Amino acid sequence: MVMGDLVREVDVAVVGGGPGGYSAAFRCAELGLETIVVDANKRLGGACLYEGCIPSKALLHVAAVVHEAESAKEFGVDFGDPHVSLDPLRKWKAERVVGKLSRGLASVAKGKGVEVVGGRAVFEDSRSLRVEGEEPQKIRFKHAVIATGSLPAPLPGLALESERVMDSTAALELADIPERLLVIGGGYIGLELGQVYAALGSQVTLVEMLDGLLPGMDRDLVQPLARRCEKLFHKIHLNTTVTGLRETGSAIETTFGSEKQPFDRVLVAVGRRSHSAGLGLETTRVKADAPGIIAVDERCRTDDPHIYAVGDVTGEPMLAHRAMRQGKVAAEVIAGRPAAFDNVVVPAVVFTDPEVAWCGLTEGEAQRAGRPVKVAKFQWAASGRAATLGRSDGLTKLVVDPDSGRVLGVGIVGPGAGELIAEGVLAVEAALTAEDLALTIHTHPTLSETFMEAAESLLREAGGR
Ligand code: FAD
Ligand code: NAD
Repeated sequence: MVMGDLVREVDVAVVGGGPGGYSAAFRCAELGLETIVVDANKRLGGACLYEGCIPSKALLHVAAVVHEAESAKEFGVDFGDPHVSLDPLRKWKAERVVGKLSRGLASVAKGKGVEVVGGRAVFEDSRSLRVEGEEPQKIRFKHAVIATGSLPAPLPGLALESERVMDSTAALELADIPERLLVIGGGYIGLELGQVYAALGSQVTLVEMLDGLLPGMDRDLVQPLARRCEKLFHKIHLNTTVTGLRETGSAIETTFGSEKQPFDRVLVAVGRRSHSAGLGLETTRVKADAPGIIAVDERCRTDDPHIYAVGDVTGEPMLAHRAMRQGKVAAEVIAGRPAAFDNVVVPAVVFTDPEVAWCGLTEGEAQRAGRPVKVAKFQWAASGRAATLGRSDGLTKLVVDPDSGRVLGVGIVGPGAGELIAEGVLAVEAALTAEDLALTIHTHPTLSETFMEAAESLLREAGGR
């Protein structure tokens, strides 16, 4: 077929089939709008399903199993040394985890009548786009939603074309288990995938340009994770940048600080950048800033009245659950409903061992803004449940408004923090007070009691109890 033969007319064209795009498309269809998704890979799920959240969490589960088995020796159960077989591991990840979810999304789309077209979308004006590649065609739309996501940021000034230098996508493919792995970047990806490779048997060295892991997060929440990484990793270099990468045939020779060291593979994890280049935005009124971030208001409207944008392409925080919420908001607004992205917080979880999770105001942010807050901390060393799990290294922390007692922020470090944070998110969204948390019965023995304990300590301190 010659490009341009087919012109489709739809209510809504969604560009990109990741969590932002498919959430928008599903909601549009539910609201009676004829909706089409154009995705470069003709599938729903995006970076999250194929090269992000899901495969990384599958591998982190494997790392957790290895760790649990190791730590069982402490109470007299010895499973022996783990033997990792990459073929079954890759097959399990690809088929039982990613494949299963991928088929699920395809069947939801079918059920809702959302068609997925394969190819790259390029806008031709504010009401139409062309699809290049697999299924070339033109689409005229009443509204479009841009959900093209983000791409790994390259290492500035050190581009080296080598299969030994990996981004997160390549690292998740598990081509092998390198003997010596250098991880550049001590953020989400560097820590999560660094721990995966360490559990699988790599000797991991991590280099972080700033003075701590997970920069920006309260240090007391990062400390237990940093301690664990110090044990798991061969070496962590803070305040360090890599100044040279050279392929030597059998390794990558890297230079950082005054050291030159060979590594079998290097993982570059220094952030992600919004993916808006080549979309033909200049033919529309959509505005993107220099790094390509598309500006949107709280209704996910761009500067073009026909075009909305959601997810990573709209900037930080680049998280799947934010993209999904924005997608639903955009759909509702397009359908004429009074929706807005008016959430108070976007929670975040680093799925390492231990997990670090937070939402809302951090203690550090409050300090930097000169905002008075009360901080309540409950160390898991005093938690019965943590003791039964052999994991007393956690902390639950509440950041509370001193006048109203309202919970403004919650931070947790410890196993299961990613699930526990949901209570904190609800507390902040629903404007609950520390007293509300203290007076709510939490099941015993659970880690969720640490919320109640932290809140009680604050009330005791205030002399109220
Ligand atoms: P994406 O998921 O990036 O999807 C964009 C889609 O658009 C892609 O399918 C792409 O092919 C398509 N596309 C792009 N341009 C075009 C075009 N011109 N035409 C047609 N199609 C196009 N977030 C979390 O919340 N939790 C996690 O645990 C988590 N783990 C992560 C782990 C890793 C290793 C990585 C890399 C990311 C992780 N993230 C996580 C972030 C999460 O993946 C993203 O925030 C999320 O995928 C963003 O969704 P999106 O819909 O904006 O875009
Ligand atoms: P990040 O922003 O989390 O961390 C990047 C780290 O690299 C920072 O600590 C930064 O100081 C450091 N850095 C930057 N340049 C450097 C350099 N030249 N040398 C050494 N260190 C350098 O980015 P990421 O880890 O690449 O992850 C990208 C994004 O993907 C995250 O911000 C997040 O939005 C998303 N993500 C989320 C999850 C999750 O929700 N669990 C997991 C993975 C990724």
